[in-house]
Amino acid sequence: MAHASLTELDAQAKDLLNQYQDKSLTAKERLAIPPQEMPSQDPNKRVHNMDEVAIGYTEAQVKVEALRCLQCKNAPCIAGCPVGINIPGFIKKTAEGDFKGAVNVIKESSMLPAICGRVCPQEAQCQLPCTVGKSLKSIDKAVNIGRIERYVADWESHTDSRENPSIAPSTGKKVGVVGSGPASMTAAADLRRAGHDVVMFEALHKSGGVLVYGIPEFRLPKSIVQEELDALAGMGVTIEHNFLVGRTAKLEDLMHREGFDALFLGTGAGLPKFLNIPGENYIGVFSANEYLTRSNLMRAYERNVAGTPLYGSKKVAVFGGGNVAMDAARTALRLGAESVTVVYRRTDEEMPARREEIAHAKEEGVQFLYLHAPLRILGDENGRVQHVELITCELGEPDASGRRSPREIPGTEALHAFDTVIVAIGNASNPLIERTTKGLDVNHRGNIVVDDETCATSMPGVYAGGDIVLGAATVILAMGQGRKAAKAMNAYLAEQGDAT
Ligand code: FAD
Ligand code: SF4
Ligand code: SF4
Repeated sequence: MAHASLTELDAQAKDLLNQYQDKSLTAKERLAIPPQEMPSQDPNKRVHNMDEVAIGYTEAQVKVEALRCLQCKNAPCIAGCPVGINIPGFIKKTAEGDFKGAVNVIKESSMLPAICGRVCPQEAQCQLPCTVGKSLKSIDKAVNIGRIERYVADWESHTDSRENPSIAPSTGKKVGVVGSGPASMTAAADLRRAGHDVVMFEALHKSGGVLVYGIPEFRLPKSIVQEELDALAGMGVTIEHNFLVGRTAKLEDLMHREGFDALFLGTGAGLPKFLNIPGENYIGVFSANEYLTRSNLMRAYERNVAGTPLYGSKKVAVFGGGNVAMDAARTALRLGAESVTVVYRRTDEEMPARREEIAHAKEEGVQFLYLHAPLRILGDENGRVQHVELITCELGEPDASGRRSPREIPGTEALHAFDTVIVAIGNASNPLIERTTKGLDVNHRGNIVVDDETCATSMPGVYAGGDIVLGAATVILAMGQGRKAAKAMNAYLAEQGDAT
């Protein structure tokens, strides 16, 4: 399919707008309005740069897309959003051209619309139950809620119309927030708004968690995350970098010696999993975490100025089929690899990555080797990756997750030439805090056990949320837990009495 330019898509939208604007539309007429395609960078060009792939709707496009919403009375989309945004409410204001009003509706429930509008798996959340998609019998035809959300959030940022939230008078209470990903950013904002002194402790030299070190610039520009972090600093949240809780100071020390009245733990799931196959220690084998961190956080992609060494990869294999695998594969292409192959044990249909990300990867030239599993990695005399032995699989019965499990076919082993392997098969939680804290309950996966309603842990005054509780999940779920925990922490601190 030919790549439609921004100008072409905008011109088509303007025609549609002339046709439909200022008319009272029937449901049938709304259903007939075509979904607006997201303008994107040409695949042949974008594979040589780190700029954002999806360019964002034009004003005409966002209004046309908003007109597709039926304003359903039961609004099933709201139940599909983990934080329950009033979706018809903000879409109605968007259709009317009241973008500020639209952002305000979103911000009643979500703190990070520019981020969630970009990275939420909308097709599995708010857009999945959308009546328009159901009526047209295709999830691809649901109202593009996330794209509309992104537009109005960007509009607020570009027009400088963002207002600082009001802060309640000081309570004299001191609250620590461990980690600086979306769970912690949200908790910190809500706790600060209630008037507490908030200090954020981040192990790395930069804040933002996976939003900064994991998700690549071409999907989520770092300036957007920075804007949210600047807003936190503007509200008076202090951020301490290079502070590894469990090493720099233990949890108990923060509570008892440093005088924190409550703590929120949002330390994420940053411990990469490996396959434990022979050869995983050869030079040229990376966890996706390390690979992406080198590129994103250490800016290895700025080859002429970055001090971060870049491994000279030509033929790259990526093991895994999720979003992390797609991010690693597309990053490898941008860092100069000649070919990148995603090796996945099942087929395209079972791949857990977002459809949009798989499509983008294919457009950019990433190759996919389905129904293959790695058995071992072979190296040369210098210990550098030279080959990967793969075995062909077939699909058997569905497993506990409902996906058909792969079965290896004996006798189909074969060597494939690769010089780099990126392992992207998932992440677990880092056990550091658990191991250095007495009385903090974790489950068999190492995730902190919390109360569903309050996010309270087994330690009084200590709350937790995001990936450290849920396992590797999503930005919006992490954000939702940060908000839930902050609400319960505010109530807990109020019960502890006035400190002033
Ligand atoms: P994190 O974002 O992981 O932040 C945790 C922070 O805590 C980190 O900065 C870490 O350095 C810090 N920390 C850890 N231990 C300590 C300690 N002991 N002391 C101090 N600081 C500490 N989700 C989506 O919704 N859409 C996507 O498209 C998507 N793509 C992804 C792509 C990649 C490559 C990855 C890895 C994840 C992706 N996710 C995506 C998942 C999503 O990013 C996470 O679910 C989310 O960031 C979790 O937020 P969090 O606040 O719990 O933790
Ligand atoms: Fe949809 Fe995510 Fe926005 Fe909720 S936050 S409405 S799930 S895009
Ligand atoms: Fe609009 Fe779809 Fe939500 Fe109905 S379900 S209110 S059509 S977004």
